[in-house]
Amino acid sequence: MDKALTSPARRLPAVDAVMRSATIVRAVDQYGRSAAVGAVRRVLAAARAQSRAQGRALGRVQARTQGDVRGIDELAHGALSLLEREAQPQLRPVFNLTGTVLHTNLGRALIAEAAVAAAEAAMRNAVTLEFDLAGGRRGERDDAVRGLLCELTGAEDATVVNNNAAAVLIALNTLARGREVIVSRGELIEIGGAFRMPEIMSRAGALGPKTGLILKVHTSNYRIQGFTKSVAAGELAALARAHDVPLVNDLGSGTLVDLSGLGLAHEPTVAEAIAEGADLVTFSGDKLLGGPQTGFVVGRKELIARLNKNPLKRALRVDKIRLAALEATLRLYRDPDRLVENLPTMRLLARPKKEIETLAARLLPVVAEKVGGAFAVAVAQCASQIGSGALPLETIPSAGLAIRPRQARASGRTLAALAGAFRGLLVPVIGRLEENALLLDLRCLQDEAGFIANLAALDLEGTANGPA
Ligand SMILES: *Cc1c(COP(=O)(O)O)cnc(C)c1O
Repeated sequence: MDKALTSPARRLPAVDAVMRSATIVRAVDQYGRSAAVGAVRRVLAAARAQSRAQGRALGRVQARTQGDVRGIDELAHGALSLLEREAQPQLRPVFNLTGTVLHTNLGRALIAEAAVAAAEAAMRNAVTLEFDLAGGRRGERDDAVRGLLCELTGAEDATVVNNNAAAVLIALNTLARGREVIVSRGELIEIGGAFRMPEIMSRAGALGPKTGLILKVHTSNYRIQGFTKSVAAGELAALARAHDVPLVNDLGSGTLVDLSGLGLAHEPTVAEAIAEGADLVTFSGDKLLGGPQTGFVVGRKELIARLNKNPLKRALRVDKIRLAALEATLRLYRDPDRLVENLPTMRLLARPKKEIETLAARLLPVVAEKVGGAFAVAVAQCASQIGSGALPLETIPSAGLAIRPRQARASGRTLAALAGAFRGLLVPVIGRLEENALLLDLRCLQDEAGFIANLAALDLEGTANGPA
């Protein structure tokens, strides 16, 4: 018999034939010729491998008569979905329904609209990044925000670096390299496996016998309870002054306003830390402050000047995009009465539970219909967290939707598959597993219509216990 007829692989269409199909002609338009050819080749190679495997399993004649040889259309659509999948960016927007407002793994603070606009303008244009307009000569990068930072914290001077880890690093490296740093054993924090205070101290070279500085650290991700007492910053400041060594207070999140106005516990403000006598205070830009990722050192002028002379400053500097967003964010603090309105972080933290509950009740039937009869959906009382080490023990009463498998015996695998289906949406929905349910804390859901439209594609086929 003719070999061409009996070999299924030989009966697949040629690359050129698939390329001429209407689907691929459109795909070339959208994704470019070389990407389209690549996708068609890969789909054909996969079909060829599959045909061969089937051929071996069934015998050649049978494979041919069972018609497993793909048509041009099917191959073209396969290539198109490959192209669509690969065109999706890796860094994608998600719905953060974890209940953690400043979620480090999901990018922490959402940026205020004013800051987004400022960053966009900085991206599109040449800007006065290091340019003194009045004198027409070279200026300093920090000038854009130094005045605002001093005004909002009461500090004499300020400098901006890549993040708070960098702020701590450059402060230690400048003031305590080759010397000793005195820090409470109870404050040797380790955050997210990557920011380990003992390691930052040794990297900064702060290990020698003479005292370079006293460090106070905000215990961001834990609290020591029981019969312990921490030394007040004011007492430490007096001690530091008596021995003529600087006191550096790493506030971590830091906040520029008193959060008790939002009904939250009091978190020490940067202005308070300065007033208590710290020589330098370090804090983050993308935690409670609600801006882009940045880190600050504010405090005494002559110490900031020494930091700015450290060559590390050049390695840790921020770019024009973040600096523009930061300046616009800080400006919002000049109008504290409208901070909740203008700054997403404050708005989400201050969002009343009643409003979230009403939202949950509205979404309940929509979600119940989409997940089908195998799951029960209920409005749930839950607790949001601030996240990123601010007020670690503080939770904020919130509400959401709890989705539970109806079958009592349903396994953890059913829940994991359910959570996976929500993560598989075009805009992934990230909830949290709690008490045998997938919990969607709705505190951070702002785009209700977008959430509903996105849900239309929910596919529960993969769940062991999918809708009947
Ligand atoms: C979060 C935190 C840091 C690290 O700040 P990044 O901005 O994430 O680099 C350092 N110290 C404390 C106390 C923190 O809470």
